[in-house]
Amino acid sequence: MPASTNFDFPVSLLDSIKTVCSVDGDALAHSHNATQPVSIRLNPFKFTNGFNDLKPVLWCDKSYYLPERISFIKDPLFHAGCYYVQEASSMFLETVLKQTVDLSKDISVLDLCAAPGGKSTLISSLLTENSLLISNEVIKTRVGALAENMSKWGRSNVLVTNNDPKHFSSLHEYFDVIVVDAPCSGSGLFRKQTDAIEHWSEENVIHCSQRQQRILEDIIPALKPGGTLIYSTCSYSAEENEQIGDYLLEKELEPIQLNPEKQWGIIETQSNNKAWGYRFFPHLVNGEGFFISVFRKRIGDGETEYHRSKKKLIDKPNKEELSIISNFVEEVQLPHILKQKEFFFLINSKIETDLRLLGEHLTIRKKGTLLGEIKGKDFIPHHELALSNYLNNDISAIEVDKETALKFLKKSDIKCPDESPRGFCVVKFDTHPIGWIKNLGNRTNNYLPKEWRILTEI
Ligand code: SAM
Repeated sequence: MPASTNFDFPVSLLDSIKTVCSVDGDALAHSHNATQPVSIRLNPFKFTNGFNDLKPVLWCDKSYYLPERISFIKDPLFHAGCYYVQEASSMFLETVLKQTVDLSKDISVLDLCAAPGGKSTLISSLLTENSLLISNEVIKTRVGALAENMSKWGRSNVLVTNNDPKHFSSLHEYFDVIVVDAPCSGSGLFRKQTDAIEHWSEENVIHCSQRQQRILEDIIPALKPGGTLIYSTCSYSAEENEQIGDYLLEKELEPIQLNPEKQWGIIETQSNNKAWGYRFFPHLVNGEGFFISVFRKRIGDGETEYHRSKKKLIDKPNKEELSIISNFVEEVQLPHILKQKEFFFLINSKIETDLRLLGEHLTIRKKGTLLGEIKGKDFIPHHELALSNYLNNDISAIEVDKETALKFLKKSDIKCPDESPRGFCVVKFDTHPIGWIKNLGNRTNNYLPKEWRILTEI
């Protein structure tokens, strides 16, 4: 729906775009007077009905445009991790990964600038159960939201870390894929963040471009020979996009050309030194401004051999502990359960093998799926287990209506019907778990972690 104001697109920004492709400046500026589309990506591991009539995002499976923005905070399925609200253009990462990486193999992927987790939730859905995704965020205050979103997504093939890019250089040639969704000047999101244009300046573009180069310089050593580097921004500036492509070609990286469908409206560019780039303009695609470019690291003299200590960082649970936990966790997962102090985790064998090595270099803030802890003879299940894909189907559950679900998500105590099972029960809305209560008969205790509760009035 067109808004009434006219959008003033900075002339120097248009000039920068015109160095790499021809663009209809008026149409681009005009598209900023329209409201931005709202799009969601469904969690393929948490089947959700009711979206089939919606217009799909063309370059990403199970992703849809909503007719209008809804209050996601009031939707229990949002809290259950059934979908992620993500800007449509950036979902193109799925096509990029499918066209450039063999996703049927167990691989190691680093999402370097990951908070709040849009790209990481997408990547974790595409990886095999025994792959490793490190979702990293350098800014400490942003790691909590990232860890929460990864927990909601429910897979155990993820570590969340809080590190500076340079900390990864000691993990020499470790990763098959590195995604750098770089901090940028943000011009592609002018429509989303209307005040961003006031803060936009050519000086900031240069500052961002230099920071992007430093980040890439730090991270390239961690990519395996033959590995894939995916670089993206939400900026229109050639200085942060194609010119960064040229910078990467000076390193041991080669450009990769993608093959997007013509009718998607994505513009292919080439930098001075012929790095391929893919640009999303809001007057040509149903999404915001976005840029993505892909590179392969040249094959070197041989792969780095890592010394992996036989001494594992975490232990196996004993028989008695396993038998207590088995009521809560899918039987097939029991061999993958590990123990650290009183806590139990579900961790795939790739993470188990490398946890000590990774822990020596990185600050790990979340590993695999936290299942819970044993206190005395009782197992106290953790919220992450409720939202994971590994919950035992036979676990006691109560299905609640929307009003009760929202009450639960505000961490208020809810009432159970008299016939409800005693002890720990998973609370479900529309068949999807949203957390744990302990039913004591005359009352219930709500086990939603305090930091996860809905704080706003609903
Ligand atoms: N990939 C995220 C997603 O899809 O949800 C969005 C990432 S956002 C474009 C860029 C991220 O880079 C932010 O989370 C920001 O905190 C982080 N960042 C800022 N400065 C950084 C730096 N010097 N090195 C690495 N990351 C940085």
